[in-house]
Amino acid sequence: MPHELPKAYEPGAIETRWADYWIREKLFSVPTPPPGEKRPVFALLLPPPNVTGRLHMGHMLNQTQMDIIVRWHRMRGFTTLWLPGTDHAGIATQMMVERQLTSEGKSRRDLGREKFVERVWEWKKLYGGAILDQMKRLGASVDWDREYFTMDENLSRAVREVFVRLYEEGLIYRGKYMVNWCPWHETAISDLEVKHEEVQGKLWEIRYPVAGGSESITVATTRPETMLGDTAIAVNAKDERYTHLHGKKVLLPLMNREIPIITDELAQPEFGTGAVKVTPAHDPNDFKAGLRHNLPQIDVMDDRGRMNANAGAYAGLDRFEARTRVLEDLREQGFLTSEKDYTLSIGKCDRCGTIVEPRLSEQWFIKIKPLAERAKAAVERGEITIVPDNYRQIYLNWMNSIYDWCISRQLWWGHRIPAWICGRCKEVIVAREVPSQCKCGGEVEQVPDVLDTWFSSGLLPFTTLGWPEKTRDQEVFYPTTLLITAYEILFFWVARMIMFGCHFMQGHHQDAAIKKASGWGDKKDDSVPFREVYIHALVRDAERQKMSKTKGNVIDPLAIIERFGTDATRFTLAAMAAPGTDIAFNESRTEGYRAFANKIWNAARFMFMNVDRIGYSAAAPDRENQGAKGISGFTPNTLEDRWILSRFNRVAADVNDALATYRFHEAANRIYDFFWGEFCDWYLELIKPRLNFDDAADKKSAQVACANLVNLFDASLRLLHPVMPFITEEIWQAIYEGEAPLKSIALAVYPQADEKQIDLAAETEMAILQDLIVSVRNLRAELKIEPRVKIPIEIFAAEPAIAKLIEENRIAVERLAGVEKIAFAPDSLAKVPGSRTTARFDVHVIYERKIDATAECERLKKELEKIERGIANGQKQLGNDQFLSKAPPNVVDNLRKQQEELLTVKEKTLSKIGELGCS
Ligand SMILES: [Zn+2]
Ligand SMILES: [Zn+2]
Repeated sequence: MPHELPKAYEPGAIETRWADYWIREKLFSVPTPPPGEKRPVFALLLPPPNVTGRLHMGHMLNQTQMDIIVRWHRMRGFTTLWLPGTDHAGIATQMMVERQLTSEGKSRRDLGREKFVERVWEWKKLYGGAILDQMKRLGASVDWDREYFTMDENLSRAVREVFVRLYEEGLIYRGKYMVNWCPWHETAISDLEVKHEEVQGKLWEIRYPVAGGSESITVATTRPETMLGDTAIAVNAKDERYTHLHGKKVLLPLMNREIPIITDELAQPEFGTGAVKVTPAHDPNDFKAGLRHNLPQIDVMDDRGRMNANAGAYAGLDRFEARTRVLEDLREQGFLTSEKDYTLSIGKCDRCGTIVEPRLSEQWFIKIKPLAERAKAAVERGEITIVPDNYRQIYLNWMNSIYDWCISRQLWWGHRIPAWICGRCKEVIVAREVPSQCKCGGEVEQVPDVLDTWFSSGLLPFTTLGWPEKTRDQEVFYPTTLLITAYEILFFWVARMIMFGCHFMQGHHQDAAIKKASGWGDKKDDSVPFREVYIHALVRDAERQKMSKTKGNVIDPLAIIERFGTDATRFTLAAMAAPGTDIAFNESRTEGYRAFANKIWNAARFMFMNVDRIGYSAAAPDRENQGAKGISGFTPNTLEDRWILSRFNRVAADVNDALATYRFHEAANRIYDFFWGEFCDWYLELIKPRLNFDDAADKKSAQVACANLVNLFDASLRLLHPVMPFITEEIWQAIYEGEAPLKSIALAVYPQADEKQIDLAAETEMAILQDLIVSVRNLRAELKIEPRVKIPIEIFAAEPAIAKLIEENRIAVERLAGVEKIAFAPDSLAKVPGSRTTARFDVHVIYERKIDATAECERLKKELEKIERGIANGQKQLGNDQFLSKAPPNVVDNLRKQQEELLTVKEKTLSKIGELGCS
């Protein structure tokens, strides 16, 4: 039966077919290994994309790298778990649905909380799977049977359990605190969600009259509306200008409230007037000073950033409108002493761009220091490795300067905080299940806030493995082996996973046999969520610009896949991913790798054509044999066989090495050079004569050559499979004509180097022959010898062994270099024109005697025509006044020079034609 491989390589059809097949056959589903199992384990968590997400280049890079590492481990015999899921993404998802409501002329308040949350679930059901569907197209070899959503019932239960435990341990507290408040989202946001921007603003000076005197104190501010909430003026105790005012009061303009003058280091004598206003409810530093002096905290705004009743006459105004009015009134009443331009840094909400208001509010916090200590130590002790190494120090620095984490969000979508407040006695009840009533008999009401999204995603390494129950999955797969992620979520996510893992999994032990087999025998701490973190680079555009919607330079990976195929796109990202350098994505590279896939495709078709003609049938791959190192079923009979076998083993060693240290680019480039250069360009050419048999004896040798070719091809496909999973599957399946004993190449064995198959002599000899062939080819090119013209060559080799080698491989040299006769010269040919000299031989292309005058005349005449056309075109342009007046001067200059050169070439060509006596 002939092997079926369509003539043209069309990635689209192949890729969707295999992606579906892998999922249908559940090839990447991992049942929990039973006790006693000793195979090594490799486990990795997919950073869960937001349920609102669409696949972008960052995902594509991230998932390509993960899939390469995962497939590589699976093929090396690891029990390999890649766990996928999506994140409910509190703010992002809520915004998405709110936007939908806005377009219907409604708001979430019109619906009410319950109906709104129902609406979000509906949205999730309809659209939430989009990003995972896109992942399926990439061929990501995840275990779809274990897919989770962060708001699944079991994961939500685990979240409540964590909250209650932390609360009971005194690590969660509730308090009034200065938070970054987004008036658009009406929620507190974390420091990490605030983007700071330098802007041109103003600095206003305001005079506060001292009560019962004629003096005033002047203070400066960039947010004058907050003065409505001032509760003190601070001066520095050492500042002698104000010593006489200690203990006195000032009258707060506009509000007519008396507020004390306090001494505090908040006021620095060298800055401005040395006095500052203190607004504990609207500034983080003032907040701390307020606590030191027991000052009242007067919040003058509401959740939407409008002034509230505490702002007196300004109540109801938006904060910026209030600013204008406050300034007008201060000016009118003579309290505004100056207005200056001023550069200041303002914080904006990362998601909506609204200016963040530092504001006092009731929030829930995690006391972070105790958690951070262990998380820091785990990295310092080397229980977790962070690659590249520079991120390790960044992580440690951050852990040193960390402060309490505000975990409550005033959203409706998310894990609701399991806390209730008694309407009668105000007691706070934190519980796993809804309490029926308070101890005092009062009715209880649940706190409306939900948890920061990163709270639940920080727990995923163990909650996805069944925690809080103790499960076999945890014994086997925890700690996970690796995390591959982007730098931007190192703190949001990676650090939190480490903190939570080290805390909640303390005392956990991985199955000792599996741990040892997996190579972690030297690690003491099994509470860490992963053993290694690999931080990948950014994908930028071809000009190295960061991609952004506003710049309009966003490259859509699905569009690239549509054009060049997933395999070529994956290969591009792998080949360009040198650690620590961003990728300047250039689709011409992808085009090149599509050509690489095409080259492999054509090589496969060539192989199948010969296999069918010769009647060789590939033996079903035998797992035991494949597991052995090197290539099995390969009989190295000839120099080229010994050479390619040796080269294959070297590339296998290099690729395994590169993948072990995340040098994806080295792995990809090594495979590329081997497959295209050594295998397709050299080996296939060299074995062609053996495949073309005439008689029965030759047929036997052709069959051996066939077996070698098929086994080498099989091994090379396996080597390439993690980077280009689809084309390798297609060809590999075709080799066995649908009779492969394994369901997929993904389950076959990854090639490992066999020292015994390395053949230094063959490599050296082959290098000499390649050198000779390339030298002749180059000489031919220089002498402009037509490809079909066979030429005699002369060789001088000082060592007899080299002459013997060339003699023995005479046919190969003749075929590959277009040589008709090889003669050996007694002396060096270095000085002969038309020769090349290398350390091992001199070669001379004998051409002069061999000129085909008719062909040369034809060629020269054609060339002459081309030159004359060029001259005519140039003259036409130079004779065109309109062109001359519009074209830049250098263009005109170049054209003139070009004309001169063409005239010289024309002369030379004419004289050659004359010499040859062309008719
Ligand atoms: Zn916002
Ligand atoms: Zn009560």
